[in-house]
Amino acid sequence: MRRQRNTKIVATLGPASSDPQRIATMFDAGADVFRLNFSHGEHADHRQRYDALRALEKSSGRPISILMDLQGPKLRVGKFADGKTALKNGQRFRFDLEKKLGGDTRVTLPHPEVLSVLKPGTELLLDDGKLRLHIEESGEGFAEAIVKQGGVLSDRKGVNVPGVILPVSPLTEKDRADLRFGLDLGVDWVAQSFVQRPEDIAELRRLVAGRAALMVKLEKPAAVERLDEIVEQSDAVMVARGDLGVEMPPEDVPGIQKRIIAACRKAGKPVVVATQMLESMITSPAPTRAEASDVATAVFDGADAVMLSAESASGAYPVEAVTMMDRIIRRTEQDPAWRRIMDAQHPEPEHTASDAITKAAAQVAHTIGAAAIVTYTTSGSTALRCARERPEVPILCLTSQLTTARRMAVVWGIHAMQTSEVNTVGEMVDKASAIAKQEGFAEKGSRLAITAGVPFGTPGSTNMIRIAWVN
Ligand code: PGA
Ligand code: MN
Repeated sequence: MRRQRNTKIVATLGPASSDPQRIATMFDAGADVFRLNFSHGEHADHRQRYDALRALEKSSGRPISILMDLQGPKLRVGKFADGKTALKNGQRFRFDLEKKLGGDTRVTLPHPEVLSVLKPGTELLLDDGKLRLHIEESGEGFAEAIVKQGGVLSDRKGVNVPGVILPVSPLTEKDRADLRFGLDLGVDWVAQSFVQRPEDIAELRRLVAGRAALMVKLEKPAAVERLDEIVEQSDAVMVARGDLGVEMPPEDVPGIQKRIIAACRKAGKPVVVATQMLESMITSPAPTRAEASDVATAVFDGADAVMLSAESASGAYPVEAVTMMDRIIRRTEQDPAWRRIMDAQHPEPEHTASDAITKAAAQVAHTIGAAAIVTYTTSGSTALRCARERPEVPILCLTSQLTTARRMAVVWGIHAMQTSEVNTVGEMVDKASAIAKQEGFAEKGSRLAITAGVPFGTPGSTNMIRIAWVN
């Protein structure tokens, strides 16, 4: 089964999408990557979804990518005696380390390391930025603030401190336990939340030890300031507009989104645009025009994937949201202006054998009207470089590694298949032709541009391109 589009869909699973039948319907509707969000749910819930996905992978014969998303050091206030309090503009409100329940004048902020960096003038945002306070006074274990934008504050609401690099570990104890669990399950990607500096990624990389690929969520202004270094350290990036849009003004987010996509395309790292893409579909069967336009913008910019969060995890229309995303992507990719707009960002090849070959393959495919580019790859790196070219034809990625085939599901234009190694050029052509036909990319008489490395089976050796006629 092949998709009729290049841009991929990431769908978050949750209470609205845990039933195996529902998950299968979402896959058929177009979800390429499934996200397990460890900010919510028990391990048992995630295990059940994981098992459903692997069963679906077996029955469909298509590699499916599973992304575990770690909660990260998300700051939260404690609980209130009445479950909540109403903060009025101009009032004082205190954050401290006391164990008792909060009230009208104070609440616990159980993060001593954060309290220690709150200085007079620091801005504090509560509940996704709905409430805004300024720190007036701070000392050992407490901070007093003046409420600038009031509202209701309830139990365990999130706290953001924009513009301050917080001295918190990038991985909490919960993240470490979740990570062990997810890696034991066999997830393909691990997403890291609230990365502040490139160094934050190193510890996760060490713990993951090659068992999954790393997706860095850009949701802190400090991380955006060191964009290139962070992209360099990661295997993929998520534009996490939810928290990013809390930490910086909404008018800054679109430009930053474009900057991040451009940086990732230049580096050849997959980039996912996330959060609120079809937000109104949480409660409505159709999106707003603005939401359709938002998805299209990511497609015009050449993002690898667009993501559904609550729309597919807890909304009333999870399948409809996937279907709608699929429709918007396909229509946008058929728009006469799409290619021109996307190619405005076209990065130059680097001076490597693999870029020389993949660039040539895209050119050859264009010149001979090939049905597909076929890349033989072990780690997936040649397929990634090929996708970086954003070629006019689909990329059929053939790999002996199931993990590679699964990881590639998030990448623009790639249809990955696991297959046995080939040992001769004849086998290479025969296998490419057979799979291209079987997967619906080619028919008798079609042409293929095939890239591979000789000697066969040596990772990182891509050095040849072969034109083949399918028979
Ligand atoms: P979250 O991350 O859904 O885990 O918060 C995405 C975002 O912040 O946009
Ligand atoms: Mn977030």
